[in-house]
Amino acid sequence: METTENKKELLRGGQFLVKETKAEDIFTPEDFTEEQKMMRDSVKEFVDREIWPKKEEFEKKNYALTEEVMGKAGELGFLGVAVPEKYDGLGMGFVSTMLVCDYISGATGSIATAFGAHTGIGTLPILLYGNEEQRKKYVPKLATGEWFGAYCLTEPGAGSDANSGKTKAELTEDGKSYKINGQKMWISNAGFASVFIVFARIQDDKNITGFIVEYDKENPNGITFGEEEKKLGIHASSTRQVFFNDTVIPAENMLSERGNGFKIAMNALNVGRIKLAAASLEAQRRVTDVAVKYANDRVQFKTPIAKFGAIKLKLAEMATSAWVGEAASYRAAKNIEDRINLRQEAGESHSDAELKTFEEYAIECSILKVACSEDVQNCSDEGIQVLGGMGFSADTPMESAWRDARIARIYEGTNEINRMLAVGMLIKKAMKGHVDLLGPAQAVGEELTGIPSMDKPDFNELFAEEKDMIKKLKKVFLMVAGSAVQKFGQDLEEHQQLLLAASDILIEAYMAESGILRAEKNVKRFGDDAQKEQIAMAKLYLYHAVDTVNQKAKEGIASFAEGDEQRMMLMGLKRFTKYDRMPNVVELRNTIAEKLTSENKYCF
Ligand SMILES: Cc1cc2nc3c(=O)[nH]c(=O)nc-3n(C[C@H](O)[C@H](O)[C@H](O)COP(=O)(O)OP(=O)(O)OC[C@H]3O[C@@H](n4cnc5c(N)ncnc54)[C@H](O)[C@@H]3O)c2cc1C
Repeated sequence: METTENKKELLRGGQFLVKETKAEDIFTPEDFTEEQKMMRDSVKEFVDREIWPKKEEFEKKNYALTEEVMGKAGELGFLGVAVPEKYDGLGMGFVSTMLVCDYISGATGSIATAFGAHTGIGTLPILLYGNEEQRKKYVPKLATGEWFGAYCLTEPGAGSDANSGKTKAELTEDGKSYKINGQKMWISNAGFASVFIVFARIQDDKNITGFIVEYDKENPNGITFGEEEKKLGIHASSTRQVFFNDTVIPAENMLSERGNGFKIAMNALNVGRIKLAAASLEAQRRVTDVAVKYANDRVQFKTPIAKFGAIKLKLAEMATSAWVGEAASYRAAKNIEDRINLRQEAGESHSDAELKTFEEYAIECSILKVACSEDVQNCSDEGIQVLGGMGFSADTPMESAWRDARIARIYEGTNEINRMLAVGMLIKKAMKGHVDLLGPAQAVGEELTGIPSMDKPDFNELFAEEKDMIKKLKKVFLMVAGSAVQKFGQDLEEHQQLLLAASDILIEAYMAESGILRAEKNVKRFGDDAQKEQIAMAKLYLYHAVDTVNQKAKEGIASFAEGDEQRMMLMGLKRFTKYDRMPNVVELRNTIAEKLTSENKYCF
């Protein structure tokens, strides 16, 4: 078990909004241990050897290659990083789990998806909810890649509304087995999995139940598959329909208890979401890397295009989204790891500790899923643009990166659902008293009606302006969400566009803060000269965040407030999004781009 640093303050899930985080209290990729760095390097080496050179094969829908690479990943232990040693895993902490997921996912979305579906939603339900017998029987085989896993939740009529599935599980007369009948859709790894986590309804239960279903080609037990789906991207990821026709499984293959399936499904997805964020990072680094090298080589108007301001803008923005995504993902990952360790130190079992912790940090998991899946899309889109016509060609890696990125906004809960979940869960936490939003929201209300404070931060201090701005962005969320809750109460969930706007404010506050804290921590230990570009990235991201917050808050306020109330809130918004010293964004971008092009690679 990796040790917990008890001295630092460990924020609870969702608390980032109302509590200040000190830079020294966050974990950043610069804090990776030697063991983690070794793991990262061996995963990178594996990808460079086994995946990147075979990109063309993956694009030709070579499903067998995906299975082969997954097998090799299993032999090297990469599939069992998160699995305790007693089930033949490596027993590493959550940061290491994220790290492997991050670096193994960068070369093709096909492997990212196969890896994510297998290690996350395919294995975790057994690890977290299975009984000892079930864990002993299945987890070692999954951790080593002897068997592959898949997760069958979605049905033709049950997508986002996941608890509405029609698949049935019926107890046989002798009480010894369940008979499963139904149709599942969009099942990743279906073509080569031996273990399926299947969600089905018993009788007319309100909630579905989880089951472990084995598949053996020689004895299919009523399981049949549809053809491989023809998809926009992730071409070599196997995605099929799965049909269960009187599939008989032992009664002891029920996961957890009857009716607990929806909870299992959702909790597995929480972990899946933050890992999906990680899985979007290396793709951004690689795409940026290719773009930088191309921009240095490509000459137009007798000038390498890297020298043009228009290209510098793109390279700087691409690197910034990757770097901030890293900051936020590893910050949350370490909070999760520390909380798991604390729970275990207090006597909870490994699985209980993990379960409760993932539930606790579900808000951060949704935030990261949305932000990083959209960043990888924008990054690959700009990557295509830097390469011009060549970017549009399937001969360069940009084209497939762009197509592969698109799925991340859809699976593991669409980004719309995750946006609304993030705000909904935060409000629920506040109502249960787990996060005190009421006090801070009231304070913001008083600030709006009071005389504006003339206090200014000491601008000689690094990030004084930026840290003040982060505080103000959080106030915008409290102002908008607080007033919306007051106005609509329980009916707020019917005001989806308002929820989406509030969610964007929340997301930007978390992401921008993570960037600033990472840069601040690194300046303190490496000096500001060495962190010139990181400072620029943190400031550049914040600048965009302020714009987004401004726009989304205006939209939200106008949707429910009128007259004096609206005027007061809009004035507050102006104050809360006002820079005292406007950053020179052009200079920030040039600083970042010049570093990238002089190093001729993604170098952060
Ligand atoms: C390549 C791929 C792999 C997949 N792998 C798996 C897998 O391994 N296992 C598995 O179980 N599933 C898998 N899925 C399914 C995936 O999780 C679903 O596609 C996803 O949850 C969305 O469901 P849906 O496609 O039915 O869309 P819908 O739920 O029909 O949504 C359509 C649109 O409506 C919006 N919407 C839906 N409900 C609401 C609402 N209440 N409020 C506002 N907007 C709403 C959505 O955001 C979306 O924009 C996979 C899908 C794909 C494409």
